[in-house]
Amino acid sequence: DSRFVIVGGGLAAAKLAEALRDNDFEGSLTLLAAEEQLPYERPPLSKEHLLGKKALAEFTVQPAQWYRDHHVEVMLGTAVSTIDRASKTVALPDGSTLPYDKLALATGSRARRLRIPGADAQGVHVLRTIEESDALVELFGSIRRLAVIGAGWIGLEVTAAARAAGVEVTVLEAMSAPLLAAMGPEMGAVFADLHRAHGVDLRCDVTVAEIRTAEGRVAGVRLGDDTVIEADAVLLGVGARPNTELAVDAGLAVEGGVLVDESLSTSDPDIVAVGDIADQQHPVLGRRVRVEHWANALNQPEVAALTMLGKPATYDRLPYFFTDQYDLGMEYTGYVAPGQQTTVVTRGDVGAREFVAFWLDSGNRVLAGMNVNVWDVGDRIKELILSGDPVDPRRLADTSAEL
Ligand code: FAD
Repeated sequence: DSRFVIVGGGLAAAKLAEALRDNDFEGSLTLLAAEEQLPYERPPLSKEHLLGKKALAEFTVQPAQWYRDHHVEVMLGTAVSTIDRASKTVALPDGSTLPYDKLALATGSRARRLRIPGADAQGVHVLRTIEESDALVELFGSIRRLAVIGAGWIGLEVTAAARAAGVEVTVLEAMSAPLLAAMGPEMGAVFADLHRAHGVDLRCDVTVAEIRTAEGRVAGVRLGDDTVIEADAVLLGVGARPNTELAVDAGLAVEGGVLVDESLSTSDPDIVAVGDIADQQHPVLGRRVRVEHWANALNQPEVAALTMLGKPATYDRLPYFFTDQYDLGMEYTGYVAPGQQTTVVTRGDVGAREFVAFWLDSGNRVLAGMNVNVWDVGDRIKELILSGDPVDPRRLADTSAEL
């Protein structure tokens, strides 16, 4: 009987267990998860859950009964410390080892921290887990002013939730606009306007020199130019780091993320990697991409399961993600390489935040599209990207012409 082991306890791990059983895997299946909770989805942690609108049970991937019914042994609070590829075993915290025939790595990411004075003070928060989201809910009820360091997705979503709870928020961003790396300046400006319209004090082009404390607690933030922003708490929204240590120590090929081929196999044919840690050779984009988004963790496991079962499979979906902030909902599909020159074409009313934006390359081919408060255009955006045909930018912008 085959023994399959999944290391990790997020969406990708749970979906992989599901996909293996759906594809008639009948061997033993063990899921080893560092957290104390059954795998859950993270997007609500900075949205509905933070707004008090969704409880953990509503975004737990599968209830406990599902794992029992499908004979998946789940070991919570169990952080795997090493993988021994020669003996094909993983080491557990209690010193025991578990053998595997096929192994899956789904260890995800952790919140990045800052190395500045005060970064470990009481009142400095990050957001990755349910416990950290709960801590923020409690915090919002007890503070007046929050400083958010980093205007990325998580920083901005927490900002929106804090405003909804009546907290005053200052957002401190090192670049010239929010979300600059992901969206470029034009669309970064849309998000800057959105937050300012909701009373956020958004400061761009600033560096944070120090988190000031009084009696060990956060008192404010000092900027590089010595400006002091008073705050009762700080949220660090400065990105995530993939949990690749296990893979590195095991001698797998890792460059930032764990390198995987089109079938999500690592450099060891008996080990796959999925989700945030997987740096995949993407067949459609023709390059390596590591995608730190929900849809990737949701969809890659189906392919990884087939690969573990020795069946041919290729992961070729375009990167996709979404955000909700205040009354703005958006979806983004496609991929723009870092530093790639693009032209942004918009279709609809940008000022009213109801439009579609397209990123075109120098040959007017659509690389990516983002629909903001406009729905049911996702499939068309995908088609435009996948066709690889040049588009007429004026026609694309013209809402009276068919998309
Ligand atoms: P993770 O969810 O990081 O799970 C990895 C799990 O593995 C963790 O439980 C970890 O404890 C465990 N683990 C790590 N090391 C070990 C080990 N050695 N042994 C055992 N277990 C281990 N994406 C979107 O597309 N849209 C959004 O709106 C969005 N919002 C988000 C909001 C928040 C607050 C966060 C944190 C993320 C958000 N994301 C969003 C990103 C999305 O949640 C991630 O891409 C997704 O969680 C990745 O899933 P994963 O299973 O690969 O990794």
